[in-house]
Amino acid sequence: MDLPHSDAFVFFGATGDLAYKQIFPALQALVRHGQLEAPIVGVGRSGWTREKLIEQARASIREHGVYDEQAFNKLASLMGYVDGDYREAATFARLRAALGDARMPLHYLAIPPSVFATVIGALAAADCAANARVVLEKPFGRDLKSARELNVILHKYFPEESIFRIDHYLGKEPVQNILYTRFTNAFLEPTWNRTYIRSVQITMAEDFDVRGRGKFYEEAGAIRDVIQNHMLQVLSSVIMDAPLHNAASAMRDEKSRVLRAIRPLDANSVVRGQYRGYRSEAGVADNSQVETYAAVKLYVDSWRWADVPFYIRAGKCLPVTCTEVVVEFRRPPREVFGELVPSLSSHLRLRLNREVLIALGMRVKVPGERMAGEDVELIVTRQPGDALTPYERLLGDALRGDLGLFGRQDAIEAQWTVVDPVLGDITPSYEYARGSWGPREAQRLIEGDDGWLDPVI
Ligand code: NDP
Repeated sequence: MDLPHSDAFVFFGATGDLAYKQIFPALQALVRHGQLEAPIVGVGRSGWTREKLIEQARASIREHGVYDEQAFNKLASLMGYVDGDYREAATFARLRAALGDARMPLHYLAIPPSVFATVIGALAAADCAANARVVLEKPFGRDLKSARELNVILHKYFPEESIFRIDHYLGKEPVQNILYTRFTNAFLEPTWNRTYIRSVQITMAEDFDVRGRGKFYEEAGAIRDVIQNHMLQVLSSVIMDAPLHNAASAMRDEKSRVLRAIRPLDANSVVRGQYRGYRSEAGVADNSQVETYAAVKLYVDSWRWADVPFYIRAGKCLPVTCTEVVVEFRRPPREVFGELVPSLSSHLRLRLNREVLIALGMRVKVPGERMAGEDVELIVTRQPGDALTPYERLLGDALRGDLGLFGRQDAIEAQWTVVDPVLGDITPSYEYARGSWGPREAQRLIEGDDGWLDPVI
């Protein structure tokens, strides 16, 4: 059944970093593809005007998108701007007026999470919430408790089917491809379990620092910023059972089920790190312990995955920018040829960068007399993965009311349950050199297995 399309797009945080880097280019793309013809209202508190908003949108698209004169002019004609303090009712009265006849707006909260509750309450008080949809940027809460509290506030004014908790990783083409590949190739299924899989590694490496967002990062750290959301969502795509059918609810049911089976972390299963020089960033405390790197070892307490270790690490100022999943298959049980087959010979590698890359690793015989081999990798597919940016995909879905790629309350709570015990400074934060693969101490987590697999690009 087709749901009604939102009849206005409101975005709070129009003056912010995310708007500049992602939202304006996505809006132009949505307009160009005929998916957005409704009024667009930017909201900010920096004293901007409509003209300034349009000027910023143009600069943003030139820098971070592909400028299209015709689509941009259409976008500009749809744009309005409301300025004001989010704590004042008058700001929301102006928003109501700017919305005109719109009765089913989509409100996108691209603002710091600390302001979510204020804005949600004010939207309701100004008659902007009834029949509306709301998109919330990640992180959804700061821990399990605050995520639950935020849900209570949201549910006062919005039913669950009108709440879109964004995790832009779910809108990435290569992440979609994990699910597609798994559930369209039945030969994978018999091997996709503890009997054949020895371990799984996920690395999210960034070769850049906090890029001026030190103040934001001080509030977040790598565990809150990417492990709790992006990395656990990627993991759930790798380990979930097949959904019963194609409806969004079926996919969300299976994800939620497997996320609830992940054992919560403890101090022995996490290593935190901080790149040298982080404390000199603007907005960062001189004695900050906030992690810019985190490595964790997880177990999933399910029939399918019992005792299989899942290693996840994410960090800034690492040698490359690359996100990769490597599924390592078990070694042969006996050495038939007197050769110890290296443990990572058989693997499936899924690269989740802008390109979609799937590769299958195998051991093959080297020609000659001896029964000795070498590792080879078959590149199954390598394609550009950015036909649609995640924000274009996700905002288009939200405008249509399609919840499939958005976090459901039970899944978000399951994700927080996993990381909650290790948030804050309960474990040390080790310094590491910029351009290295993080603190040496992270090797401790993976001892006994084969060590971290550093993506090579
Ligand atoms: P910014 O710090 O740039 O702030 C966004 C907007 O929020 C600004 O327009 C600012 O308005 C407004 N704002 C900031 N503090 C307050 C406050 N106390 N009260 C009212 N308004 C405030 O954030 P980002 O754009 O970087 O991020 C926005 C959201 O998106 C956050 O939830 C973040 O976690 C999430 N996000 C950001 C990403 C990014 O790359 N930037 C990536 C993924 C998610 P003004 O400038 O007018 O004062």
